[in-house]
Amino acid sequence: MTSTIPTEHLDILVIGAGISGIGAGHYIRTELPAKSFAILEGRATFGGTWDLFKYPGIRSDSDLHTFGYEFKPWEAKDSIADAHKILDYLRETIEENDLGDKIRYDHKVLSADWSSEDARWTVQVEHAGEQFAITANWVFFGSGYYDYEQGFTPEFTGRDRFQGQIVHPQFWPEDLDYAGKKVVVIGSGATAVTLVPSMADETEHITMLQRTPTYIMPVPKQDPLTNLFHRAFGHKIGHDLSRKRFIWQQRGVYVFAQRFPDLARKIIRSENAKRLPKGYPVDVHFNPPYNPWDQRLCAVPNGDLFTAIRHGKASVATDRIATFTETGIELESGEHLDADIIVTATGLKLKLFGGVQLSVDGRPVDVTQSVIHRGAMLSGVPNVAIAIGYTNSSWTLKVGMLFRYVTTLIRSMDENGQDVAVAVADPEMPTRPALDFEAGYVQRALHELPRQGEADDWRMSMSYFEDAKRLNNELSLGEESGLRLSSSKRIAPAGV
Ligand SMILES: Cc1cc2nc3c(=O)[nH]c(=O)nc-3n(C[C@H](O)[C@H](O)[C@H](O)COP(=O)(O)OP(=O)(O)OC[C@H]3O[C@@H](n4cnc5c(N)ncnc54)[C@H](O)[C@@H]3O)c2cc1C
Repeated sequence: MTSTIPTEHLDILVIGAGISGIGAGHYIRTELPAKSFAILEGRATFGGTWDLFKYPGIRSDSDLHTFGYEFKPWEAKDSIADAHKILDYLRETIEENDLGDKIRYDHKVLSADWSSEDARWTVQVEHAGEQFAITANWVFFGSGYYDYEQGFTPEFTGRDRFQGQIVHPQFWPEDLDYAGKKVVVIGSGATAVTLVPSMADETEHITMLQRTPTYIMPVPKQDPLTNLFHRAFGHKIGHDLSRKRFIWQQRGVYVFAQRFPDLARKIIRSENAKRLPKGYPVDVHFNPPYNPWDQRLCAVPNGDLFTAIRHGKASVATDRIATFTETGIELESGEHLDADIIVTATGLKLKLFGGVQLSVDGRPVDVTQSVIHRGAMLSGVPNVAIAIGYTNSSWTLKVGMLFRYVTTLIRSMDENGQDVAVAVADPEMPTRPALDFEAGYVQRALHELPRQGEADDWRMSMSYFEDAKRLNNELSLGEESGLRLSSSKRIAPAGV
């Protein structure tokens, strides 16, 4: 059906009002104040991840000094923050940057087609049961990396036999009553290690059932040095100092773990062992087969998971599931875990670009054939910016730099009378999937990912320091960098 809504034109269209899209809004406001823009959000509210997940204890596992924005101090005393505090912080960011009237809720982006003739995107949007088009010079993706409609749950033999309730953390029933019940949480990632201590006190018993252990590191929920910085120097300088400190700390821990895996493994083991009961089989339940930081290391604030185990309210089982039964789960070892509720904390389903079908001049873009340029653009796709953050430290650290880079690029293009930027990859350059990360959700989706190349500008860097250098303002914008900048007919002077 043809829409009756007239086509609006904007300079920039941001997709998603999570922490990335809201951050993009700030950089557009400050770096490109004359540009018209809107943030289209498919859901009825902002916050993305931090609004979607409602399970008990939902919190960050990064410190908020680096997960928060560079431009807005994180003033709360807790470094690791609950979802509602992150939402408060995002609400303040929206207010302080006057973004309220820029965010359009319940606007789901379906497709985006680039016209080389017009040098602009035509974006199809669905709102209130109607589809209509918006055109834009640039599209910024802040649409996250996973599917909001479905989580990942493997096939479990005998699932239908189970008489109790099965819950996926992504779709937590807010009225779920687990008081005095036996709960089994399947999984060992960030979600499982958050759920278990948060639910333990109310349940009769809670068991974390894992096939493979994860590295789990206790971290202080409040960081005394950070709070001292804030008290002594005020929030602005305090934030800058704590942020620098956490950036160095995260990088230091990562590099140390990769260079000296045996020593890192010993340190983590000893930190775990001293919080667990005497004689606890640490090597069975907390000794992963891979090296520290080959997968994301799980932080547990104040060691709460270990406290729940020590108090006897929680336990860990490391085994494979033989079958679900009427009353719980039978393990391959023959052991049976009784359960009234089974929580499948088995992960996310990766989905890049918010499911938006991209095309250039009517030809669908196969993103698996695109190479990511400077972590920010897709080769062969003009005037698009993407927000894929770090997998080995705070997501936002990278996303902030990416949007600042792209807004600076647009400003410099404006000054030079250019309006089309496209990354062009050398077809001879060897490439590999954009994410080198062993996490299940990445490994399951390797065949769907864009690619990264070996050359400097084409590597998907996971180092803040490397990105800080290559995304700074003096970076080369010449063709040798793989970026082709040009003027479309639309802005070229007549006769050219
Ligand atoms: C439970 C959990 C805890 C996490 N904790 C941390 C942590 O501590 N540290 C860390 O670094 N990372 C963490 N992450 C990763 C986390 O998701 C990111 O760090 C960050 O929140 C992602 O922000 P985002 O804005 O890019 O994406 P999201 O938060 O996913 O927001 C994307 C937004 O885009 C909207 N959208 C998507 N597609 C469309 C479309 N087609 N049209 C319109 N709107 C669309 C969505 O509705 C959503 O609001 C966590 C992830 C989960 C699931």
